[in-house]
Amino acid sequence: MCCESKRRFLLLYATQKGQAKAIAEEIWQQAGAHGFEADMHCISEMDKYNLETEKDPVVIVISTTGTGDPPDTARKFVKKIQDKTLPPDHFTHLQYGLLGLGDSEYMFFCNGGRTVDRRLQELGAQHFYDTGLADDCVGLELVVDPWIDGLWLALKKALQLQKEKEGMNNAVDAVSSSLSTALHAVHELKLSSEVQNLKLEDEGERDSDVLSQELDDINLVAPARDTEPSLIHSVPPVSQSALNIPALPPEYIEVQFQDTQGENPHLSSLISEGTTFEVPVTKAVQLTREDAIKTALLLELDIADTAFEYQPGDAFCVVCPNNVSEVEELLHILGLSEKGDDFVCVKVKQGTKKKGASRPQHIPERSTLKFILIWCLEIRAIPKKAFLRALVECTSDAGEKRRLQELCSRQGASDYTRFIRDSNVCLLDLLHAFPSCKPSLSLLIEHLPKLQARSYSVSSSNLYQPGRLCFVFNVVEFPAGPSRPVSRKGVCTGWLAELVAPLLHPSEKTLDTKGESSSTGKISIFPRPNNAFHLPADPSVPFIMVGPGTGISPFIGFLQHRQKLREQHPDWEFGETWLFFGCRHQDRDYLFKQLRCFLENGTLTHLKVCFSRDSSTVEVAPPKYVQDILRLCAKEVARVLLKDRGYFYICGDKKHMADDVSDAVVDILSMEMEADRLEAMKILAMLREAKRYLQDVWS
Ligand code: FAD
Repeated sequence: MCCESKRRFLLLYATQKGQAKAIAEEIWQQAGAHGFEADMHCISEMDKYNLETEKDPVVIVISTTGTGDPPDTARKFVKKIQDKTLPPDHFTHLQYGLLGLGDSEYMFFCNGGRTVDRRLQELGAQHFYDTGLADDCVGLELVVDPWIDGLWLALKKALQLQKEKEGMNNAVDAVSSSLSTALHAVHELKLSSEVQNLKLEDEGERDSDVLSQELDDINLVAPARDTEPSLIHSVPPVSQSALNIPALPPEYIEVQFQDTQGENPHLSSLISEGTTFEVPVTKAVQLTREDAIKTALLLELDIADTAFEYQPGDAFCVVCPNNVSEVEELLHILGLSEKGDDFVCVKVKQGTKKKGASRPQHIPERSTLKFILIWCLEIRAIPKKAFLRALVECTSDAGEKRRLQELCSRQGASDYTRFIRDSNVCLLDLLHAFPSCKPSLSLLIEHLPKLQARSYSVSSSNLYQPGRLCFVFNVVEFPAGPSRPVSRKGVCTGWLAELVAPLLHPSEKTLDTKGESSSTGKISIFPRPNNAFHLPADPSVPFIMVGPGTGISPFIGFLQHRQKLREQHPDWEFGETWLFFGCRHQDRDYLFKQLRCFLENGTLTHLKVCFSRDSSTVEVAPPKYVQDILRLCAKEVARVLLKDRGYFYICGDKKHMADDVSDAVVDILSMEMEADRLEAMKILAMLREAKRYLQDVWS
């Protein structure tokens, strides 16, 4: 769609899982109320816009995927602007504002946005508004909301500037004064998210497109004795505030119930990322003792009859269903228990006001209602504010309605973070907490995201165990609490744990004719190749592995591979190998005690372990964490990295662990090189660049 209005701006989004698109749609929706017209396109629709000739301001919302890559939809665009033959003044006519989305739990935070931003700058384009980098780890909305709030003033200034530039000769003066005003208006973006919110509230800003609702009856909320807020209760000032709540998103989905005849689609049709393989689980081992805080399981899959290929260090994805009893419960609450096996057809509502509304691609054209709820929708997703806003309309009790309004309002931002986001609240928890809320099925389909396959690092070697693939995971637990009536397990890890229970508990074991446990069931997997987290191509190069907890998983694959290579090629030269491993208790969760075997047969040259929660009787306390033992081996670590040009690998489920390890490495380099920290940090950056310092960190 192209609009020739003077207050037009071009709005481009590059989305992977739909978040950047949803935010662009929010901007598009708000634009009208601010007197602008957003000409919105997916960045991949390159025939619908032309940055080479674009005169109006451009707003770009772009997410990050994989290991810091721009989303698939931006690939062509990025390739085009990265053309090295483009002159440095290629985009000098362009004014833009960019909002990057990312997750600081991953390396290369917001790298998709940063890459585009950097390149546009190199080509002469100018910011009319400071770049916003929103972090899904703490809540995108903490940056997104104030960024959008500040956008309108910046756009106004940018358009004014453009007009002045066209009409006057002293354009240079106009540029600097207008830009400085726009930048002043958004300087809060640099502050911490919490402070930003306070600031906005202090300023008493009111957007014209948000409903400013006066509180009619504050007694609706909580009895006076409740001085502590909770998911369902609020306290002053929130309970007494007028609320700024988001505009109600237009409905756009229609669900038609059909017959009960037919077959559901094959799971492989739900996966767009590549070929799926249905493989049996042949072995399950509990690696932790019953009294360990977390339960770690190792599963073995039989991939012999498939074309599935992997290298040690690769990750792969498991297609997982939602918990069936949760789905039954949801159907019951929706009043659709009788309809679970009915085939449904999901369509876009005729005449919907939602811009660019389309049928969600993750919902099959024809499948049963249960199939959709089990395999297609992330029913455990933490509800976004737009969803809460929509739920307000389906809630009959006035007190519940008010609390839902608070939770999606600007005034209730910290309640949202505390009671929804940080508490990992899901739709079912909300429906229990707000029993008069009765959403329609179509609303759930509109707001629940796609159920994503979960990634796991391979913990085996195809050389060592041909036709087998192993992986290790912790069963994620969400304990019951004030916001959750029952405890829950992670979607995928809970499902896998249940699936393999017969393999773990001998009494329930199904025995085949040879008396061995047979496989329990099959799971669908597909590859997620990792380009860099692999063994050094040259076996004579030494390497260091740091993998606390389940982070040890890929290194078992590395060591198995190395052991096999040593057996097959006794004449080759093999570099030394170091493994730093840590866990809570030596007895309860020392995963892979068989590491000693690798040590004994010479595959592993040095094994360093530490236990963070074991009490010690010795005078000098032993090191607790992997970074502590690394520091004790400073000389050797520095030698491997600097003199021997070795590799350094970190894997684990906590970003702060990876950061602590990096800090230790910087200290080690600075100490051993007798250089300052800045110099050591530069060396580390160089090692990363050379792909000799590699991280595989998830959370
Ligand atoms: P969900 O129901 O999706 O709940 C996950 C939520 O639980 C998260 O949003 C988080 O808020 C919370 N949570 C609390 N503790 C944890 C925790 N320890 N891990 C994850 N989420 C937690 N996991 C492994 O156990 N082993 C691996 O080898 C492994 N490799 C991975 C490789 C890659 C490239 C990536 C991206 C992830 C990897 N993960 C691994 C994480 C894995 O994909 C899942 O996120 C994890 O198993 C939880 O899935 P779930 O469906 O059971 O939990």
